[in-house]
This record gives sequence, C-alpha cells and structure tokens, in this order.
Amino acid sequence: MSAVILKPGREKSLLRRHPWIFSGAIQQVEQEPVSGGTVDLLSSTRQFLARASYSPTSQIRARVWTFEDEPVDREFFRRKIRSAIDTRQRLQLQDRSNGYRLIYAESDGIPGLIVDRYGEILVLQALTAGSEFWKETLADLLLEETGLSAIYERSDADVRELEGLETKVGILRGDLPSFIFPITEHDLKFNINLQSGHKTGSYLDQRENRLRVRELATDKDVLDCFCYTGGFTINALAGGAKSVIAVDSSEDALNLAKENIALNHLPLEKTTVIEGDVFLLLRKFRDENRSFDMIVLDPPKFAPTAAQAERAARGYKDINLLAFKLLRPGGTLVTFSCSGGVDAGLFQKIIAGAALDAGVDAQILEHLSQGADHPVSLHFPEGAYLKGLICLRK
Ligand code: SAH
Repeated sequence: MSAVILKPGREKSLLRRHPWIFSGAIQQVEQEPVSGGTVDLLSSTRQFLARASYSPTSQIRARVWTFEDEPVDREFFRRKIRSAIDTRQRLQLQDRSNGYRLIYAESDGIPGLIVDRYGEILVLQALTAGSEFWKETLADLLLEETGLSAIYERSDADVRELEGLETKVGILRGDLPSFIFPITEHDLKFNINLQSGHKTGSYLDQRENRLRVRELATDKDVLDCFCYTGGFTINALAGGAKSVIAVDSSEDALNLAKENIALNHLPLEKTTVIEGDVFLLLRKFRDENRSFDMIVLDPPKFAPTAAQAERAARGYKDINLLAFKLLRPGGTLVTFSCSGGVDAGLFQKIIAGAALDAGVDAQILEHLSQGADHPVSLHFPEGAYLKGLICLRK
C-alpha cells in the first residue's frame, strides 16, 4: 500500500478531521501512487490516521476519503453517494426547485466531486485528481442510486490545472435533449445553459436568497448588480418591484436574462438591462444623483483564498460604499461575497467600513448564506463560502 508519512506534529489537523494534507506537512512518500490513487496517511510514528487520494502536483497533496481503516472501493462510494442523496431528501426540496446540489465535495465526504441535479439531468464536476481517478465508477453509481440516465460533465473549472488535469466537457452518460434546460425555482422558470453557463450552469446556492429578494422588492426601485441570467431581477419583478435595472458585463448572460423574464411573463417594460462594468456604472449613477430602494450586489469571487483577501476587501468596499450612497433612506442593500478567502467576520467589517465612509447609518437586518443543499461539514469550514447581509439604510 502506498503511504504518506507526515512530519512530527503535523497530524493535528487530521485528528480534528480536517480532510486536507498540504505538501509541507509531508516527511516521506512510500510507493508513490499514480495521480488520484489511494494512500494511507501515517503519523511520524507510523500510526494510521486516514486513507486519502493523492494529488502529486497540488499543494493540497492528499484529501481524505475516510478516517477509518476500511477499503476505498465501489461500495464505499455507493454509501457516500446514498448518504448525500438522503440528506437532500430530508430537505424536501421538491417543493422549492427541481434544480439543486446533490453532492457537495468535501462537505459530503467526497472531496473534489460536485454534482448538481437539473430535473432529470445530472451535471458533474471532478475538480481533483482523486475524483477524476474514480470518475467512471462515480458516474455509474450516480445513475444506479438516482435512477436517472444522463450525466453531463463540466470539469472546466480553473482549479483542475493545479491538480494537473485538463478541461473535460461533454456527455458522460446517456443523452441530452438540449443544452438549454429549464428549471423551476420557487415557481419561477429559468432556462439554464448547461454547456456554457457558469459553474454547472447556474448559481443554485442563491435560491433562498432570491426568494427573500422577491418578498422584499414590492413597489421598490431595484438595482441588480452582477445579475448574470437574471436570478434576482426576475424574483424582484415577481415580487412586484416598481422598476428593475439589471447590470452585467456578459452579453450572453443578459440575453438569457431577457429570455427568462419573458418565460415568466414578467413585465419587460419595467426592466432596464445594461451591459457594462458595475464599478463604472455605480460611479456614473452617483454622479447623476440616481437613487434606489433596493440594491443587490452579487459579484464574482474576488478572493478564492485568504492570500487575496486584502485586494478583494478593497473591491467589496468600493462597490458597497457606492451602493450605500445610491440608497434612499429606508432602502435595503442585499450584499454578498462568495470569496472563500473572506470570512463572515471580515465581510461584515468591510460593509461597516463602507457605510462609515459613505456617511450613512445602517443596520444589519439579516445574515444570509448558501442554501441547505450546499451543507457545510463542521470539520471543513471552507465549505461555507457564500455570505450575505441585508442592510437597512436609516
Ligand atoms: N446574481 C447571479 C449570479 C452572479 S455571478 C444569480 O443569482 O444567478 C457574477 C456575475 O458577475 C457574472 O454574471 C459575471 O458576468 C458578472 N461580472 C463579473 N465582473 C463584472 C463587472 N466588473 N461588471 C459587471 N458584471 C460583472
């Protein structure tokens, strides 16, 4: 059996059940396995700690499959997949959406594997050497355990490069009737582009927050920044917003947003769709003395890791400061960060600094996070990446 022997004292994180071993913690590798192969993780005194997948090119050199001395085989993965499916069944998601995350990597005990379900289609991302190694087995098991027949692969995230893996996109199992797939989320319809949409096609993690915006948007003039395919815009319109301005830099996303508004028979005439850079547009609106009752800020990830947190903090502060200035008294700011490198405490501090520098008084009404189909393992806090605040400008 291949084994990774840790330096003295470097077993501590494993004893707390954190699933990652960084290259710097490793003393020696015995019988180096192939990329993604299984290794035993041993303490410096050769005590068994865990069984893991091996990523020879990544700083995260090993990711734990199990802390038990048990075989890592087809039946092992069947149990993990079943458990993840059971978790989703407990959530009663069928009343909310037919699009939801079925497997969320480390949080569901299968590091590197993401599987989103869109109706009858599964979209799979293998982000690590280990999940790539087991991909065909995992695909077969997913079909057996769900009873579905189609899997589309979207292994095109940048992180694969760190794992020494190439991009892979295409049909993995079965057939797809079309790359455009409709989902229904809280009774609204969204066309998802499985082939070219972001992530696996959409941002399923914001489902409950979009509903909250719907509830709060009645009679409001809304500005939806970084609107992508219109998730928040469509919910604001469905909630009876007076007007919505939707801004994104991607023409394709905006085209789909317009289609999605029409698909739901919502008033296109109340909507202004702007292709542009939010950083510039907010400044332009400030110079024009424009004002809004509700502003949504859902930018892309500014800081994937803590190393970029400082630069990211400047970006978040900039847009939130401008947004506070554009808010009417009594208006609400719905602001998000999906940066793994910015934790909830830091995010709140950034927003506080933004309000202070904008010269406004504000209160936090609600803390928001990712939906429950993106659960967080207590031992892997990195799984909690989405933070949001609803702030009231006094
Ligand atoms: N709110 C969306 C998801 C937003 S994802 C939803 O609920 O579905 C982030 C979006 O920001 C992407 O659509 C991307 O095209 C856009 N984007 C990135 N940088 C931008 C910029 N500087 N100005 C405008 N849009 C930007």
